[in-house]
Amino acid sequence: MFQNLSDKLTDSFKKLRGKGVITEADIDATASEIRRALLDADVALPVVRQFVSAVKEKALGATVTQGLKPGQQVVRVVHDELVEILGGETRELHFAQRGPTIFMLAGLQGAGKTTLAGKLAKWMRSENKRVLLVAADLQRPNAVNQLQVMGQRAGVEVWAPEPGNGVGDPVQVARTGVNHAIENGFDLVIVDTAGRLGIDEEMMQQARNIREAINPHEVLFVLDAMVGQDAVQTSVAFRDGVGFTGVVLSKLDGDARGGAALSVRGVTGQPILFASTGEGLDDFERFHPDRMASRILDMGDILTLIEQAEKKIDQAQAQEVAEKALSGGLTLDDFLTQLQQIRKLGSMKKILGMLPGVGQFKDQLDNFDEKEVNRIEAIVRSMTPAERRDVRLLNGSRRARIAAGSGTTVAEVNALVKRFEAAREMMKRMGGMAGGGMGGFPGM
Ligand code: GDP
Repeated sequence: MFQNLSDKLTDSFKKLRGKGVITEADIDATASEIRRALLDADVALPVVRQFVSAVKEKALGATVTQGLKPGQQVVRVVHDELVEILGGETRELHFAQRGPTIFMLAGLQGAGKTTLAGKLAKWMRSENKRVLLVAADLQRPNAVNQLQVMGQRAGVEVWAPEPGNGVGDPVQVARTGVNHAIENGFDLVIVDTAGRLGIDEEMMQQARNIREAINPHEVLFVLDAMVGQDAVQTSVAFRDGVGFTGVVLSKLDGDARGGAALSVRGVTGQPILFASTGEGLDDFERFHPDRMASRILDMGDILTLIEQAEKKIDQAQAQEVAEKALSGGLTLDDFLTQLQQIRKLGSMKKILGMLPGVGQFKDQLDNFDEKEVNRIEAIVRSMTPAERRDVRLLNGSRRARIAAGSGTTVAEVNALVKRFEAAREMMKRMGGMAGGGMGGFPGM
């Protein structure tokens, strides 16, 4: 998803890495690279312009956050701006207070409406809701049948016109379908409507008539993320011709360049509510602007991690440990303290999972043993205070005692001591962990 855009944006940040100070010229250079990356990804020009100027302004005015290096500040500004153009807060879905909730689907033919109907149906059914699919797409000969197949797969009822009744009236089908749902106590009605290959006034009129007849709680405009620049024109035509309350981006699993996703909110003013990521009925998710932004920047959820670190880690203590590490005076007590601080952020698996680029280590992550951290803690706790201050006191018999005391093996004790000494040496050389308290123990 968005791989190309991701790569280019991450590349544009590389030059800022390691810089102690970022000048206006640096920001200008980065901004032009971001601009190029967005244009290459088919993001609409007005959106690009607004994005780049906001990034420039905010990057110049950014206040320094403790623990973030200047380059990271810029990444954060870009991230926040991405969240903004993707819609800011996650928008809650509109449900009926009483009686069935009505969702109407609109979009071009092939956008993924019928598939979405099945996905929504399956999802709501798993929440113990009674769902009715309504086949108001009478344009394509096979559409009704396709929706019936979806209904079967999702395990929900489908309302369709009697076969052999000629072309039929989609407004009538939609209306009777909704009435059927009201009379029979359904919780959600999903009305599938006809799409055409291109924008066409007759289709818009029909969708508008259906909308007026059934007064849906959400009109979901399904937009194929693969269509590139045309997305803007199509979205605007549907907004003006039918009106919609939310957007569903489909086919985000393909090599979509990302333009549609990044433009549609800015261009139409309506939020993205779902992302469809495959042909299977489970291949879709609620759309969260912040998570999508993190994904585009291949950041994992590092910002959540930074925020939690700012809230939960004792900055003064982290600073003290950092200074000790700089001078080569790190002890196992400090190591223990840091470990406990980091553990406040959650399980190690969760923390590691939020790190960028961790996707490639997914298997190792899945096999990560939380107990490993407990064993490290147990080993350190079995040492005397003097030993924690100076590991050279640990001779063979003491190591055996510590292994027995902590329920581990001598090999594990040896490995920990070795790793700790290597870490201490490396920190001394590196000049420490710049104040963030995020630790720098190799292998942790
Ligand atoms: P409709 O004409 O708007 O009802 O579109 P369909 O639901 O019939 O979808 C058109 C084609 O796109 C079908 O072959 C679907 O399987 C496929 N499709 C729908 N959504 C997705 C998606 O999120 N990812 C992928 N890869 N294919 C999808």
